[in-house]
Amino acid sequence: FTVLGFESSCDETGVALVRADAAGQVPRLLSHALHSQVAMHQAYGGVVPELASRDHIRRVLPLTDAVLAESGRSLDAVDVIAYTRGPGLAGALLVGAGVACSMGAALGIPVLGVHHLEGHLLSPFLSADPPEFPFVALLVSGGHTQLMRVDGVGRYAMLGETIDDAAGEAFDKSAKLMGLGYPGGPALSKLAEQGDPKAFALPRPLLRSGNLDFSFAGLKTAVLTQARKLGDELEARKADLAASTEAAIVDVLLKKSLAALELTGLDRLVVAGGVGANRLLRVQLNAECRRRGVRVHYPELHLCTDNGAMIAMAAAMRMASGAAEPSKRYAFDVRPRWTLGED
Ligand code: ATP
Ligand code: MG
Ligand code: FE
Repeated sequence: FTVLGFESSCDETGVALVRADAAGQVPRLLSHALHSQVAMHQAYGGVVPELASRDHIRRVLPLTDAVLAESGRSLDAVDVIAYTRGPGLAGALLVGAGVACSMGAALGIPVLGVHHLEGHLLSPFLSADPPEFPFVALLVSGGHTQLMRVDGVGRYAMLGETIDDAAGEAFDKSAKLMGLGYPGGPALSKLAEQGDPKAFALPRPLLRSGNLDFSFAGLKTAVLTQARKLGDELEARKADLAASTEAAIVDVLLKKSLAALELTGLDRLVVAGGVGANRLLRVQLNAECRRRGVRVHYPELHLCTDNGAMIAMAAAMRMASGAAEPSKRYAFDVRPRWTLGED
């Protein structure tokens, strides 16, 4: 079967076609298209929800046309329509849900709402070297930081999560106070390449907590304190501060991931979410996992942040595994706050 998927939970409009052939085979991506609203929101220093919703409305149909054209297929080839049901911005989610369900009703084909984080979690299955179950998952995005034990599609056990800010938030907030724009994670990481990661001693919160939870709020405060202390010197030491911040975040993510592997006894790690694109994180995880005989899987770089491919993929994998069935009930709702695994 062929799935057309829509992502509109925040500030990227994503549309994709995924095809599931034989049972037991990983579904494959036929085509996808993405429009990022980052440039539009940059002037405001963050996402403006009302502008996000309106832009999703403008982009979603042209992107759908592009995806169909690129795959050489028409809407007749689509068997199921998937959309991000949550979590995310309510107005933004309603655009994708509304379009998906209207299109489903017009074509008389079933629809399926999927969890945005399940999309991120399963996005490494879109890569050339997909993982196999079971594995430990490190989900590091703009709004979430979680370690999970994953035994199959829909079989997720939480091992630990952040008690305050997400890792992506720590990158973005630190970047913002260094004047690196929004979302500043990638910019901070780039600047860090020219800095000394040992220049400033920043806290590694909860590193010795004895559990797999994270905390990044204190780190952001420490970065702010350090920036204030530097005063006029900040400009000259910015690369050092960026490198020290990145080192602190990556250090915690690395050590907690290794602890999760140890605790579960599993020898496979899957990293997903926007921060999974971070170069230092990949370098350090690769090195430590190689030493331990652990295989690490990542999404392709361009599929780490939000996209439609992961939503179509999650729907296809849920259906192929029997974890979910799409339906012809076209009345829709969205779940702006929604914990993965909760009904
Ligand atoms: P969620 O998925 O939790 O709802 P989100 O959709 O906003 O949140 P993603 O799209 O997965 O999050 O990821 C965006 C985040 O990833 C931002 O915080 C961004 O700064 C961060 N990010 C992207 N690339 C990098 C990088 N190379 N280094 C560090 N952080 C990065
Ligand atoms: Mg985004
Ligand atoms: Fe996301």
